[in-house]
Amino acid sequence: MVLDRPGAPTTRRQGQRIVRTVDPILVFGPWSERYDLGPGHPLTPRRFGPGIDLIRAVTAAAGGGPIRELAPEPASDDELRRVHDAHYIDVVRRFSEQPLGGWEAGLGPGDTPAFAGMHEAAAAVAGGSIRAMEAILRGEAGHALHPGGGLHHAMPDRASGFCVYDDPALAIARARRDGLRVLYVDLDVHHGDGVQAIHGDDPGVVTLSIHQTGRTLFPGTGFVAELGEGTAAGTSLNLPLDPGTGERGWLAALRSVLPEVAATFRPDVVVSQHGADAHAWDPLADLRVTTTAMGAAARLVHSIAHRWAGGRWLATGGGGYDAYRVVPRAWSLVWLAASHLDAPAAVPTAWRERWAGEAERYGQAPLPDWLDDEPNAGLRLDGTQEAADRRAVETAGLLRELAVPALVRAATDLGWWSALDDLQPDGIGPASAGVAQSARTAGVRTPAPADHPEILDAVDAATWAGLGLADRVIPPGEPVAAHALVLAALRGGREVRVTAGVAGGLIVGAVVSAVPEGRRLLLGLGVAPDRRHRGLGAELLRRHIERGGGVPGAAGSERPAGSAAAIEPWAAAVTVAERDPAEPLARAMREAIARRLLERVGFRIERAAGLVGAADPGAITARRG
Ligand SMILES: [Zn+2]
Ligand SMILES: [Zn+2]
Repeated sequence: MVLDRPGAPTTRRQGQRIVRTVDPILVFGPWSERYDLGPGHPLTPRRFGPGIDLIRAVTAAAGGGPIRELAPEPASDDELRRVHDAHYIDVVRRFSEQPLGGWEAGLGPGDTPAFAGMHEAAAAVAGGSIRAMEAILRGEAGHALHPGGGLHHAMPDRASGFCVYDDPALAIARARRDGLRVLYVDLDVHHGDGVQAIHGDDPGVVTLSIHQTGRTLFPGTGFVAELGEGTAAGTSLNLPLDPGTGERGWLAALRSVLPEVAATFRPDVVVSQHGADAHAWDPLADLRVTTTAMGAAARLVHSIAHRWAGGRWLATGGGGYDAYRVVPRAWSLVWLAASHLDAPAAVPTAWRERWAGEAERYGQAPLPDWLDDEPNAGLRLDGTQEAADRRAVETAGLLRELAVPALVRAATDLGWWSALDDLQPDGIGPASAGVAQSARTAGVRTPAPADHPEILDAVDAATWAGLGLADRVIPPGEPVAAHALVLAALRGGREVRVTAGVAGGLIVGAVVSAVPEGRRLLLGLGVAPDRRHRGLGAELLRRHIERGGGVPGAAGSERPAGSAAAIEPWAAAVTVAERDPAEPLARAMREAIARRLLERVGFRIERAAGLVGAADPGAITARRG
């Protein structure tokens, strides 16, 4: 491992602010170019020449200093075995020594042909991502970019889609070994199926993949309904897009889901895969994304890492088969985001001169003048694309309904709070790592759990403001943010009503409802972990409902029992999103508890209809009055 400079924090002036930062690490070295599936294979190591060269050129053009580099070395078998079967590693090694050995475990003639030295080269890709993660975990760098990484299709027991060892999954496994919670964001045009398969049963990992639909593209998976099962239900998230989806639909879909998912899950580290094959010019797929949108997505992931994950961010490359016109610019925009540098508008002339000949030879000329593309990559916006863009937003709306808790969605939709507005404009600045870390624990105090909480009906904004909120009562994941969200809700109209259980000045249980339209909607109900299983949730809900017109026959009703006219109309919808993100119960248990709580206060419960019910069979809708 080579770190050119120690990870000393540096101070850099950016715009009006002084930014104190640790420079990101660029993971690249001699091993990177040895992962070579052969002449004519689309995943060519030729991309490193123009790619790394452009990263260096734009860094200099943007006024950045020398780049810290980490040269990948092969990961050990022990490390590979954290994700891959020992037998599969043996098969890779055998093919690596005798590449013409037929076809086994996804290796051989086809997408992932064997080549001499394949085991070591693939293990070095894995080693690059693992070492980069370790540097981040040790605090030597906030961010790292591994352009040669992102081999997201590799499975535990087989190669797939150009990928031998699954380096993003291995980096995630390394963070999990330290008990850290990981948000994985996959922007490649192909579904991140290997990473989803490997970590899909771990509730400590959320995978979010945006890709061309598996109906029309390899690997044929990645549909909204693949939400995960058991305790991990709701942690595999997919945004499948129709062919022809452009930069607007792609970015709008990502923006409408990712920030809220991150805010709700509260990861400790973000891993992202920046395959450049969603680009309009890519020869292997049919989306119409631009480098402009890819750069915006990289900056979004970067700001999310700062706001919700202590600034820890490992970015990898991935697919991308326009190796001269697209991949270098896509990598450079990720690198500039990680470097806290404003992207220069122009592609440096000297770089274009150096690579024009080779680009011409491989039919990928002329090289673009600008880092950002023309609007819609210069393509005419036709009806097919407009329809695909609309569908992208609809699909994101469906995933959001499934993956984001009702309270967070309502807060965004009603303008009380937004996970996006809560980010720094560019993700950089005072609210970076240190602040996010202290905010994370600021609301957490632990009163003696023996005392029964006092129940406050109709908490007003002033009362709420004067109380602390315990961890893991209501979303989003960080109690300070959840506290701010409810405070904004109480000040935001829509007949917001809050009932709280309070012990020692700390809110340890809460119910929130509002009337966005017609019916009163139950938005959130939660109890702090050390107060659960003692009936507090049921008691809070009963008190909350009673204030609105009485539970028939319940003691303390304000209005006569059984008077139909007196019962305020209520609704509730509970999906896979409603869970404790830190220690979720199994899906069936979550559903049973929701049903019992709601039935006890007179709700009639049905399975959710339509697309929500189809994707999440445990989803319920409930009505009362
Ligand atoms: Zn791909
Ligand atoms: Zn940063």
